[in-house]
This record gives sequence, C-alpha cells and structure tokens, in this order.
Amino acid sequence: MLDKSHCISMDEASRLSHLRESFVLPEETIYMNGNSLGAMPKGARDRLLRLADHEWSQDLIQSWNKNDWFVLTSFIGSELAKLAGADPDEVIVSDSTSVNLFKLVICALNINKPRKKIITDNNNFPTDIYILQGIVNSLGLELELDVVESNDVLSHVDTETALVVLSQVNYRTSELFNMFEMTQAVQKQGALILWDLSHSCGAMPIQLNKCNVDFAVCCGYKFLNGGPGAPAFLFVAKKWQSKIDQPLTGWMGHRDPFAMSTDYEPATGIKQLLTGTPPIASLVCLAEGVSVFNGLSMDDVLSESEKMGDLFIRLVDELCAGYGLSLVSPKDSKKRGSHVAYQHEYAYAVMQALIKKGVIGDFRVPNVMRFAITPLYLRYQDIWEAVSILKGVLENEDWNKKEYLKMAAVT
Ligand SMILES: *Cc1c(COP(=O)(O)O)cnc(C)c1O
Repeated sequence: MLDKSHCISMDEASRLSHLRESFVLPEETIYMNGNSLGAMPKGARDRLLRLADHEWSQDLIQSWNKNDWFVLTSFIGSELAKLAGADPDEVIVSDSTSVNLFKLVICALNINKPRKKIITDNNNFPTDIYILQGIVNSLGLELELDVVESNDVLSHVDTETALVVLSQVNYRTSELFNMFEMTQAVQKQGALILWDLSHSCGAMPIQLNKCNVDFAVCCGYKFLNGGPGAPAFLFVAKKWQSKIDQPLTGWMGHRDPFAMSTDYEPATGIKQLLTGTPPIASLVCLAEGVSVFNGLSMDDVLSESEKMGDLFIRLVDELCAGYGLSLVSPKDSKKRGSHVAYQHEYAYAVMQALIKKGVIGDFRVPNVMRFAITPLYLRYQDIWEAVSILKGVLENEDWNKKEYLKMAAVT
C-alpha cells in the first residue's frame, strides 16, 4: 500500500510543485473544490489593493486609459487564447458564461438559417440547458430544442440541425467528450458546434482551432482562478467573425463607443461580442488568475491531474472499500476531466462531515460527492490526507449527525 512519504516524494518530483506558492490557501484545509471556485492567487490581493489605493481612489476616471482598464477584456482574452488553442483575436472576456452562451447561440442560429434544431445533452450544466430553453421560448422562430442522452448525441444530429451545444467535461461525473471527434461528426451534417469549456480550460490542453471549433464559452472562476463571479470568456472562430449578428448590441461592442452615435455599428472582430462596461474589480483578479499559467505547459498540468486523480481512486479503493462508495467518474484518466466523483447514499452528510474535518469538496444532487483535482495548488500528500480522513468519516460514521443531513442553500 502507498504511504504518505511516497506521496511527498511524488510532490517533490512534480513539475508544478512551485506553483502552490502563488496561491493563498487556508491552514489545515485540503481544498478540493477548485472546479466550483478556484483558490485565490496571491497576486490578486495586491492587485485589488492597487485598484483601491491608486487606480479607483486616486486616478479615478483616468484609469480607463492610464491604467489600461479599457483594454483588459481583450488583453486577458489574448492570454486565454493560448490556453484554449485559439488565436489572440478570437477570444475576449465578457459577461458571464450564461450571457455569452445566449449571445453565441443566437449568432450560430443566424449563420445556419433556415435550420431550426438545437441539440444538447441532458447531462449538460443546468444554466446551459436553461439558456437554450429561454432562447427557444422567447424567440418564437419555431426553434426546436432536443435535450438528448449524452452518449447518443450524434444519432440526433441531422441536416435540420443548426447547432450542437456541449460541455467538454460533465460537471457531475467528470466524463470527457472527445472534442475533435464530436466536432468533426457534427460539422459533417452541416451543423455548427459550441463547446462550453468551464470544466476543462485551465485543467487540460485545449485545441479549439486544431479541432475546427466554431464557438466556445468558458467560466472564469473555476480552473482559471479568477475569483468569485469572475467574468467569463468567449471564442468565435475567425471565419465566423464577419458573419455574425450578436443580439446584445451594447455600446462596448460598437465600432466607436465614444462617437456616441444613435446607430449601432458593430466593431470588427471579436470586440463586437462585448456588450456593456466590464466589471474592472473582477477583471483585475481574473488577470492574476490567468497570469499564473504564464509559461506553464498544459500537458504538464494534465499529466499531474491524471496522476492525482488516479492516486485518489486507488487510495479510495484500498482504504474505503465496503463503506458504500461507488465511483461515478471514468476510471480511465484519459476519459476523465479534472475531478473525481463518488456516489454514496448519504453523500451530502458525508461531505458535510469531511468539510468539518477540513477536506472541502462538494455535493451534487442526487447523491454525488465531487473532489476537484487542481495540481496548481493541490499536492499528492493532500490526496493521501483527504482519503485517510474520508476513511475515518466512513468508518466512524461521523456523517451520521442531524446537522449534516439538512441541506444548505448552496451545495
Ligand atoms: C460553472 C458553469 C457555468 C456557470 O455559468 P455562470 O453564468 O457563470 O453562472 C456554465 N456552464 C458550465 C458548463 C459550468 O460548469
């Protein structure tokens, strides 16, 4: 059986071990929820203080030019493009994932008229499905939404299909779609594809252009460590940028916002996807989150993540057998995103007991515990500790307490 000292030597061998230094992490805590809210980069605190003490308070409105507030959305976008395998002028930071999804779905439907069918899968993240439902219900264009089984998406794609919307990693089970193969197969039918990268970008290499992806959106506050409610990013392949009409035509997407014209005229390129004034306090934090990836190989990030996930699964097999846990994530790391999920009859209570003991993962209905693997700041020794604590919680039935069985508003 593996012991802790072996895990410590794996930490010493990791190419990413120096990065933990770049984050603030609470004492006595093993944080395995970076797929919901990434840890805080140390730089974010300093950057927020600079914003407070100099930029907002002293430079005030001049900061838009003097402190580069105005170009942050495209600057961070061009940095994120490197993580997503896109060109710098194909990515921009804007709004939330939900809002960006709305904008890009409308763009795609306009391009692919008169096709009317949108397909997504029933394991997609709820907001993605809800936004699609809202579009179909509010546009009144005889649009049709098919929410199908995840393993059966392709059999529903036909020559009526305008757009397929998929999340690369299943937020609950961690199953991974093959982006290249799915994109090819969807486009073969003349449909467009939109990928949601919220659980993949920042956790693994992504090749949007090598996969010929049409559109993508991604969350900023998960694996990108952009801070609570960080703005999201969107990607539009260059070939579509001159063919889109985005629906939220705010002044920041105008060709010349400060001409104050009465007529909307879109900016050229990716900037036309902007809508209103960006949240600068959040943007500066996102910039810090993204800067941690500077010079990093995403292949290294993926490789450590796979090894850590495998270690977690192996230790759970060895230490926690017979306590009613069952793995819902793929055992094969090549088919898995960067978290590991287990079912347990009392998953919510077990997770509450774990959190009380300093192991922070989360719970998803109906009975799933998720443990995020974030090798930028999680260590092999943390995985070892986490599983030992899990074993204790199960063995002693620490979870079997009234207060753990009652669900909080945010799980
Ligand atoms: C987290 C997540 C979102 C979040 O959307 P918000 O608009 O930021 O609330 C969207 N889609 C997926 C797949 C996610 O994992």
